[in-house]
Amino acid sequence: MISHQLMLRAGFIRKLASGIYSYLPLGLAAIRKVEQIVREEMNRAGAQELLLPMVQPAELWQESGRWQKYGPELLRFTDRHQRENCLGPTHEEVITDLVRMNVHSYRELPINLYQIQTKFRDEIRPRFGLMRGREFIMKDGYSFDATDEAAGETYEKMNRAYQRIFSRCGLKFRAVEADSGTIGGSFSREFMVLADTGEDTIVVCKNCSYAANMEKARAMESPAVETPDLLPMEKIETPGKRKVKAVTEFLNISAKELVKTLVYLADGKPVAVLMRGDHEVQEVKLQNLLGALEVEMADDKQVFDVTGVPTGYLGPVSLEIKVVADLEVMKMSNFAIGANEKNFHSLNVNVGRDFEVSEFADLRMVTADDRCPSCGGGLKLTRGIEVGHIFKLGTSYSEALNATFLDNQGQEQPFVMGCYGIGVSRSVAAAIEQNHDKDGMILPMPIAPVQVVLLNLSTKDEEITQAAEGLYKECLARGVEVLMDDRDERPGVKFKDADLIGIPIRLTVGRSFSKDGVVEIRSRRTGETFTASLSETVERLKKMIDSEMVADSSINSQ
Ligand code: ATP
Ligand code: MG
Repeated sequence: MISHQLMLRAGFIRKLASGIYSYLPLGLAAIRKVEQIVREEMNRAGAQELLLPMVQPAELWQESGRWQKYGPELLRFTDRHQRENCLGPTHEEVITDLVRMNVHSYRELPINLYQIQTKFRDEIRPRFGLMRGREFIMKDGYSFDATDEAAGETYEKMNRAYQRIFSRCGLKFRAVEADSGTIGGSFSREFMVLADTGEDTIVVCKNCSYAANMEKARAMESPAVETPDLLPMEKIETPGKRKVKAVTEFLNISAKELVKTLVYLADGKPVAVLMRGDHEVQEVKLQNLLGALEVEMADDKQVFDVTGVPTGYLGPVSLEIKVVADLEVMKMSNFAIGANEKNFHSLNVNVGRDFEVSEFADLRMVTADDRCPSCGGGLKLTRGIEVGHIFKLGTSYSEALNATFLDNQGQEQPFVMGCYGIGVSRSVAAAIEQNHDKDGMILPMPIAPVQVVLLNLSTKDEEITQAAEGLYKECLARGVEVLMDDRDERPGVKFKDADLIGIPIRLTVGRSFSKDGVVEIRSRRTGETFTASLSETVERLKKMIDSEMVADSSINSQ
């Protein structure tokens, strides 16, 4: 990933171990900028900052049930007293424990607390530097309300705060409907920075505001069709034809007339999934339907062990394992499917008559040919990087941990919770992914490590050096963030490095100062260059900086 390469080349980060990085001064300065914007907007929305321990006792996680559920991403260790602990990947347990010990009445609500902290997740595939680290910086916030309605208002407040945060960071992003994952909860939204290299695929309506993560995206259901007469089932030889394309070509039918039978292992238990020939399984939807911690497609050997049928010829008729099917299969009749015998398929198969399905659900991946579930408009698939995630948690944690308060009737009630994460270190990487050219980074002004890089092109020339140092001091005095490059290097090296580290404004003091008494100001983003006299320089810089900061009034929170 380009952001990873650039951060290494530009000296923003250094790798210590897989997924574990040191943040060097420039990298840290950019991270601090993001943190500051996050702080200001969280505070503005009524949240309060605290800092929770990173080491968490196992007992709390056992209480919530996540000690088992979280899996190998949770880094567990034993201390000298043989007590089990973990390094916090997230803090629902700790914050809920804190609140249950200290908050007892509805009069103290709502409460909204957040922290900015290093998290540890033992990711299976750490990669792309800060994009998916094992150790990374996150802002995590948690809210506690007395009622669902109040929790809904808090969630909306956080939604608006997030819109402001990512706008102020100068990022192009989109908020999308998302799956809630291991954290649980009933509803969630992800904030995606748009970038072709993003790991997530998002589905966006070309017509209305519908946007969703692929894991959650729905399509408008195809129209109901009148069921035709059910024809008698027929077995037909399909020698060596195993794949959808080969079978449908051989049978001279379209993939829409074929149902494929796929075997998955859900926490080790086999399940057959039926899908229209031209559709693909969305595994997170399947996982949610089955309530499984992990689903994985069975390999050829596992399929054979479980069903006695070689892959490619499998079908649900007289199949002994659980069968679930995608909603679109419900609308099909007289379809083709594997005959559970090598080199054979069956034609005119029908659900209900020939076999039973234990559950129908939306299990498929949406495609660009689908229609929007809200307005019927066309859909577009694009890529994004998840930088934030907000959840309505409801009472799942407060009930599990028995965290209650007394309501205005004196009744004990569980807190209604929400949680809100931002990948702070990932946001910096995402910003670079979105803003770079062949010469290096082009950081948005609000999160650049400094606003101006000042090049002294001739450190041996006293006049030039004096002018550069004068400008440097004046910048500092007038609140312009500046980094001076007064290394004993050739101008070409300094220009190259200034481009690489992506500082939005380059200020150069060199030969034209000796000759004409002017310095050069250049915008990293547009390449626009002009000269200025010493006395007007800082004023010009201030104007440029102001015009590139995201103004309050331009933020259009939805
Ligand atoms: P992902 O799907 O990318 O693994 P997640 O759903 O596990 O993310 P959350 O638990 O919602 O992430 O964490 C909140 C935020 O923390 C994410 O939106 C993301 O920006 C950031 N984040 C999560 N995992 C990592 C990681 N390994 N490295 C850097 N940032 C991360
Ligand atoms: Mg994750």
